[in-house]
Amino acid sequence: MKPFTYERPATTAEAAQAAARPGARFIAGGTNLLDLMKLQIETPLHLVDVNRLALDTIEERPEGGLRIGALVRNTDLAADSRVRRDYAVLTRALVAGASGQLRNKATTAGNLLQRTRCPYFYDTDQPCNKREPGSGCAAIKGFSRHNAILGSSEACIATNPSDMAVAMRVLDAEIETVKPDGSTRIIPIADFHRLPGDTPHIETVLEQGELITAVLLPPPVGGTQVYRKVRDRASYAFALVSVAAILKPDGTARVALGGVAHKPWRVEAAEESFADDGARLAEALLADAHPTPDNAFKLPLVHRSLVSVMQEGRA
Ligand SMILES: Cc1cc2nc3c(=O)[nH]c(=O)nc-3n(C[C@H](O)[C@H](O)[C@H](O)COP(=O)(O)OP(=O)(O)OC[C@H]3O[C@@H](n4cnc5c(N)ncnc54)[C@H](O)[C@@H]3O)c2cc1C
Ligand code: SF4
Repeated sequence: MKPFTYERPATTAEAAQAAARPGARFIAGGTNLLDLMKLQIETPLHLVDVNRLALDTIEERPEGGLRIGALVRNTDLAADSRVRRDYAVLTRALVAGASGQLRNKATTAGNLLQRTRCPYFYDTDQPCNKREPGSGCAAIKGFSRHNAILGSSEACIATNPSDMAVAMRVLDAEIETVKPDGSTRIIPIADFHRLPGDTPHIETVLEQGELITAVLLPPPVGGTQVYRKVRDRASYAFALVSVAAILKPDGTARVALGGVAHKPWRVEAAEESFADDGARLAEALLADAHPTPDNAFKLPLVHRSLVSVMQEGRA
């Protein structure tokens, strides 16, 4: 591991200012960042530990909905009675991720910002535009079973591995942040993660030093909420594909896909047209798919998973 300096600020303003300097990074649960530092894939010069910030509560918003502090652990978020009752898709997605021990450490913000599991990103002997911009992409002609089928580019075909983010997308969550200059903003999750384009190393719209303070959930939308994760083994594995769905009694549907793109994949226009027809909704969601020979199986897998989820939700 490369040497780095470390500080543990007490306020969000101090944290954002401390992280403004080049090479600085926040650390929360450390379950992703520390692994990457040990492999020298990430080499921060300065770590800003956010664990002393008062960001570990879930509060009810005056206008309805919840404000989830950035440091709320995945276990606590999944177990919260309000989340289980009103945002069941979120609880289901969280408990489908990682292991109990990891979820006890992993935070809401850290989960949103976890990095891809593309094997070549972790192999420093291989070219990877995400790890080393301009070096190439070993996955495109390599082993790409887990990689993206939608929204990818000639520079990168990585997927976003988060289960939680897929549920947040279907719930229309928003990300609350504070910047080093003290200004704050609220970013719809649809705009938070970027597609790779020719800069796959830039994964979100966050600026240097911008601290996530909370995730906001809108008032409950009801309906039957399902999270279906398809993976190589029954637990402790990342999604090959996943489906987060909210199916409402009025016949409307919201659907987001995981494991298929650099960000959770949702097409609202397709939901409006095909809310009652899983097969046609799948066709619309996959209309622009560009699979590799290794991961073309994800197309029928998405199709079958979505049809099955919609049948289950409407039963
Ligand atoms: C073996 C293993 C299996 C896993 N399986 C799954 C799985 O099946 N599904 C799944 O979804 N996840 C899985 N994970 C990933 C796990 O969910 C993430 O590692 C975890 O959510 C990251 O949270 P953290 O708080 O530990 O983040 P950290 O490692 O502390 O940080 C991650 C990133 O977030 C940034 N960051 C942290 N907090 C803030 C903040 N407040 N503001 C701005 N930036 C911030 C850090 O700078 C860093 O870039 C797995 C992880 C492991 C190790
Ligand atoms: S797909 Fe992206 S993360 Fe994987 S090797 Fe290519 S550039 Fe790197």
